[in-house]
Amino acid sequence: MLSIRCSNCGKPYPPEGAPDRCVICTGIYDLTELPLIEPSSWKDTAKGIWNYLQVEAFGEAPATMTLGEGLTPLVWGSIESEDGKTSEVGFKCEFLNPTGSFKDRGSAACVQFLISRGIQTVYEDSSGNAGASLAAYAARAGMEAHLYVPASASGVKMEQMKTVDAVVHPIEGSRSAVTEALRRDLKAKTAPTACYASHASMPFNLAGYATLAIELFEQIGRAPGSLVLPAGQGGLLLGVALGFEWLVARGKIERLPQIYGVQARACAPLWAVHSYGAAGLAWVSEGETMAEGIRIKYPLRGDAVLQTVERSGGSFFAVDEEEILEEMKTAARMGLMIEATSAVVFPVLTKHVHVMKQPVVAILTGSGYKSLEKYEAISPD
Ligand SMILES: [Zn+2]
Repeated sequence: MLSIRCSNCGKPYPPEGAPDRCVICTGIYDLTELPLIEPSSWKDTAKGIWNYLQVEAFGEAPATMTLGEGLTPLVWGSIESEDGKTSEVGFKCEFLNPTGSFKDRGSAACVQFLISRGIQTVYEDSSGNAGASLAAYAARAGMEAHLYVPASASGVKMEQMKTVDAVVHPIEGSRSAVTEALRRDLKAKTAPTACYASHASMPFNLAGYATLAIELFEQIGRAPGSLVLPAGQGGLLLGVALGFEWLVARGKIERLPQIYGVQARACAPLWAVHSYGAAGLAWVSEGETMAEGIRIKYPLRGDAVLQTVERSGGSFFAVDEEEILEEMKTAARMGLMIEATSAVVFPVLTKHVHVMKQPVVAILTGSGYKSLEKYEAISPD
């Protein structure tokens, strides 16, 4: 059984249904204990995330939900810093997951739970990797998926959703109008077999992300000294930190890696608050950025994300649009076909890798094959 409580009122997750928010106070549900398997029983890495997650903790289901997520390669490469020195960096290739992003670890865990609760219809608001991922896992589970997206959304991620027969609802107006439309439609649907499978608020996805920490530990034989990753909601950051803290509690590693969350300067609330305290919030913008996957003005678990980074001894960075574009090319030349959202880690590595605690690992979150038009823009004819 999963151990989940409301972070606001402390009430446990209900024994039936699949609410994304506390049914008493609408607070966010947190995992209070990770459903991870003890290290002595990690036997078959071919099982991907389910080599580390206790599938039975997610409730009764006829089979394990998997599309082969996890077990992504760790590829080492040299980064030349501005002083001309080179440093080795391990690149965790999360863009090689089944639907092209780390979100698959979360979707597999979440859908596994939803099956156990008899859910047949999932609602989600995302025009990006999270929506593409949930749509694929829902299709595999025989669930109907409804994806609410801004009317302007287009591109490969949208095609991924449509290809697996997800029902796409284009909504005019702001990003929050999209979520409001979803909640309104879901409320009108009285069937207890429908739920809001939000990748941002559901707690199950974090358990999936925690497996990334365990994989890194197995691949390196120790914890990274530093971990650099894109941060929007910060769900990946939180999940991975939870995984490392679980390893600390078992005496497998000494401490959490120093965690460096990277945001696009156009929308960098975590960086602003970390750098300037509450005053930073006054000038947080939701500007346009190529790094669309981390364009989040109000991260749901923002406080926890900030505290985790501070506890790790790490920091936040904000990077400019020109740097992102340039570094997509750097990554591609290394054979790493990543999307702009993932490329944000490169400017940080170039400037700071030589002072970071070794070994340094950067998480490359999403595939560049979903945004080839950006490569066309930067490639010579
Ligand atoms: Zn509550």
